[in-house]
Amino acid sequence: MLEDFGAELIINRLEAAGYEAYYVGGCVRNYLLGKPIDDYDITTSATPQAVCDLFKDLEFFTQGIKHGTVSLVINGAVYEVTTFRTDGLYSDSRHPNKVSFCSTLSEDLSRRDFTVNAIAFNKNKGFIDDFNGIYDIKHSILRCVGDADRRFSEDGLRILRALRFASVYSLEIEEKTKSAILSKAYLLKNISAERINSELTKTILGGNALTVLTEYKQVLFIIIPQLQTVEEVDFYFSWLANCPFKAELRFAALVYSCKNHFKEICDLLRFSNFSKNLIKKLIDYHGVRLSAKPYLKRLLAIFGDQISEFFDFEEAFALTLNDKDALNEISQARASVCEILQNNECFTLTQLAVDGNDLMSLGYNGAQISKALYLLLDAVINERVSNDKILLLDFLNENNG
Ligand code: ATP
Ligand code: MG
Repeated sequence: MLEDFGAELIINRLEAAGYEAYYVGGCVRNYLLGKPIDDYDITTSATPQAVCDLFKDLEFFTQGIKHGTVSLVINGAVYEVTTFRTDGLYSDSRHPNKVSFCSTLSEDLSRRDFTVNAIAFNKNKGFIDDFNGIYDIKHSILRCVGDADRRFSEDGLRILRALRFASVYSLEIEEKTKSAILSKAYLLKNISAERINSELTKTILGGNALTVLTEYKQVLFIIIPQLQTVEEVDFYFSWLANCPFKAELRFAALVYSCKNHFKEICDLLRFSNFSKNLIKKLIDYHGVRLSAKPYLKRLLAIFGDQISEFFDFEEAFALTLNDKDALNEISQARASVCEILQNNECFTLTQLAVDGNDLMSLGYNGAQISKALYLLLDAVINERVSNDKILLLDFLNENNG
């Protein structure tokens, strides 16, 4: 049942004080879809001030109060309690000029983006579904509340939210909503890079990402214009969809074909440094040989414990091409890497049996030290000498001239 201890406490107390209060938005949608519920949104006729007064005994945050939201904390979980509101006029396709509180649940539901997100519920009144969201959920349809063109013109972010919901919940976007998305896609230019990054990440991590990206590539081209001139861009969508559900892998497949514009794209999508580094490495090392141990040791030095992600990325590529030989090679490479790790075979300077101090005491200095260490590491990796101090120093004598 859609009943949660904290949410019930809030709704009961609001009702006892004479207000209306309902579960709304993602929690109702996910309940009806049979999906896990991440957070609870509650909509109420009580003003934000009345909510604060009524829940003085609880911890709460008021940074959303301008938009009518008070965030209440119960047992560590945050409940967003928002006063019934309408969004007024939008002048910039993103921010309502002014938020006004309104008196009825119906008005509040009508400002919501999609029918599946505009269903309210409480224990006494059951589901309140003015826009037939339950029908749409049953039939896996994503549809705007009201006139689709107008709703996307009000707030361009809804375009990406639509793709996200279609991808994550495998919903089919209804015709009018679809044509409005395509004709208003240019409005995404007004949306902040952070919002785009967050919605696009969720979209590519959805189970239905391949279909959504393929059908809505025009939208993607607005976000990442560099993709526009890529030949067979659908191939890269398939590669993406064959990757595990990990953002960096999927982004690497998506932007692989524009690797010359990597920096621009990173700036555009505001990747974190962590993501940027991993995506860049995946792209740079895609397609390298995996057939011999020295190659694998170099990859291990580069990827460290992200090596299995690199293999996943390569495997997704091979799967996309249905390349059985490559798939075999990758599974053999995985086994060899396990062996290298288990045997503690040397592939980094820290594992080398000789260090800078050893070389300093032999009279090496500055740049000579690192040059010699890399020469030894290279020789160990290529199995030209064992990782043994005496043997390494002998080798150095013979080869460093
Ligand atoms: P999730 O929490 O899984 O991301 P959600 O639907 O709950 O999904 P929220 O951003 O938490 O998304 O918003 C809660 C509700 O507020 C939505 O279900 C929708 O009814 C409404 N909403 C959110 N963003 C918009 C928007 N840009 N335009 C119109 N309504 C919106
Ligand atoms: Mg939510």
